[in-house]
Amino acid sequence: MALLVQKFGGTSVGTVERIKAIAEKVKRFRDQGDDVVVVVSAMSGETNRLISLAHEIQDQPEAREYDVLVSTGEQVTIALLSMALESLGCSARSYTGSQIAITTDDAHSKARIQKIETENIRKDLDAGRVVVVAGFQGVTEKGAITTLGRGGSDTTAVALAAALEADECQIYTDVDGVYTTDPRVVEGARRLDKITFEEMLEMASLGSKVLQIRSVEFAGKYNVRLRVLHSFQEGPGTLITIDEEDEMEQPMVSGIAFNRDEAKLTIKGVPDIPGVASRILGPVSAANIEVDMIVQNVSEDRTTDFTFTVHRNDFQRAQEVVAQIVEELGAREHDGDNKIAKVSIVGVGMRSHAGVATRMFEALAKEGINIQIISTSEIKVSVIIAEKYLELAVRALHSAFELDQLPAA
Ligand code: ASP
Ligand code: MG
Repeated sequence: MALLVQKFGGTSVGTVERIKAIAEKVKRFRDQGDDVVVVVSAMSGETNRLISLAHEIQDQPEAREYDVLVSTGEQVTIALLSMALESLGCSARSYTGSQIAITTDDAHSKARIQKIETENIRKDLDAGRVVVVAGFQGVTEKGAITTLGRGGSDTTAVALAAALEADECQIYTDVDGVYTTDPRVVEGARRLDKITFEEMLEMASLGSKVLQIRSVEFAGKYNVRLRVLHSFQEGPGTLITIDEEDEMEQPMVSGIAFNRDEAKLTIKGVPDIPGVASRILGPVSAANIEVDMIVQNVSEDRTTDFTFTVHRNDFQRAQEVVAQIVEELGAREHDGDNKIAKVSIVGVGMRSHAGVATRMFEALAKEGINIQIISTSEIKVSVIIAEKYLELAVRALHSAFELDQLPAA
């Protein structure tokens, strides 16, 4: 007998048939004696539909009313799932975020959870009921409805699991776990049995969109045992945990992440004097453009070349800002490239293994792939390469670090 929080995403509750299938699944856990709190998203496409309705009326929808509107999708699915459970003879009760009292700050559309009332949930569980909670939403102390940001139902689930001290938070979705890399790019990509929170954060922030990043941070902070599983296939999924094992025992690299949405800008011949970095990046961040990698090197003529990367959507605007800066600083020229991609190897094991980066660079060199920028952190090495080589690079690295699935015997 365990206390489980189970979260089902939009595609898993996308039709009435699927909602019925989810109800049967939840009932099986209940029949086994587990206490179950279910968190659901809105039916797939519904949140987008609501957002576009708002935009038909206001370019910048009223923040308070936006949340009143977009939170309704989840109210539909909690009621339908509870009905489906009841019709199977499984006693259930639905709650919106404000009925539970999931208290958040008042940052509409990106609110943060501050407190969760668990008393009523416990009473229902003790009475043998399944508790069905609307994901993605909360309420301010003053009673205004808030939402937690796109994909926020994951965070609701993790926060509930933390507050209830659940045995496990299970995120059911349309993939059967976290993979060594995107299986659409590498046929031999493998499902990982286990990944650490740190690795998952790196993988997620680099574009593996299995979980909302904030939910992983939350789970790591409160040490919630988190598992990603397929909604409609049996299997163990991937467990996301703290790093319990000896690092020497871990594979050097757990996964290859990549991101196509990159662009780089270079300013050449920048005077090599204190303050230039902030004079370049100040206006960039003032224009609300997020900078990812930054590289600077001094040449013998006492000038520097300064390169940074941004999201591809911001490329045009960043170029305009940079043109202005070149003039102000008396730099020589600038150029840019939005046909680049970032590829990263991620693994806590690399902390205790030398030569990981070298092996990466060798594998890329063997394929004739030129590296434009390198950056490293404790558990990650990232490179920028030409976008046209992205898939080749990911495949080469996947086999260089022996991540490929063994052919069936
Ligand atoms: N329905 C919300 C969204 O589409 C929350 C979620 O699905 O997690 O972003
Ligand atoms: Mg989602």
